[in-house]
Amino acid sequence: MKVALDIQHMYKSSQPDDKGRFAYGIHEADIVKDYMHKTAFLMQQKGIDVIINDWDKKILTGDYWQRHQYANSHDAHLYIAGHLNVDSTQADQLIIEYNLPASYPTVIFAHILGSNLKNYMNSEKVLIKAMKADDPEYYCLDKLLMPAVLIKPLSLYNSSHMELFKDQGLFVVAEAIRNAVEEYQKTDIGI
Ligand SMILES: [Zn+2]
Repeated sequence: MKVALDIQHMYKSSQPDDKGRFAYGIHEADIVKDYMHKTAFLMQQKGIDVIINDWDKKILTGDYWQRHQYANSHDAHLYIAGHLNVDSTQADQLIIEYNLPASYPTVIFAHILGSNLKNYMNSEKVLIKAMKADDPEYYCLDKLLMPAVLIKPLSLYNSSHMELFKDQGLFVVAEAIRNAVEEYQKTDIGI
């Protein structure tokens, strides 16, 4: 099983300074980078192959379409694009959007991930939906050949989530993602 973990906003050639939303002295991408690196660490401990952004080695860098080409040509089985929920009016919402076409494995993986995040984050509100072609975020997952999800597991505007930004709190998110991948692996469609 090979999983691409993409810290989005960062590593773009067209917008090298993009770090997503900035609020309360925190950049979205710094939090995403933290939970994605923790996820990579936990996955590698379980023998899962990880592809994660590396500027020096030119891994998953450049604009999103270039990263998607990289993941496609390196045969990633799953693609996870990391963000935060930056809608301050829905700060209690976990969001997972999956790529089109909505294949059976894609929908299954999105739901396994949703239930793991919901349990680990002790959250009531999980929104799982297909990306729409006219969605401004569509290009975040466009033309990926494997099940791919864009995740917003935390909010910059949720005080209990902000508690997790400190110390090792983001391991909660990392464990949820790692467990979801393991659970998916055990299904008859996992690899
Ligand atoms: Zn974002």
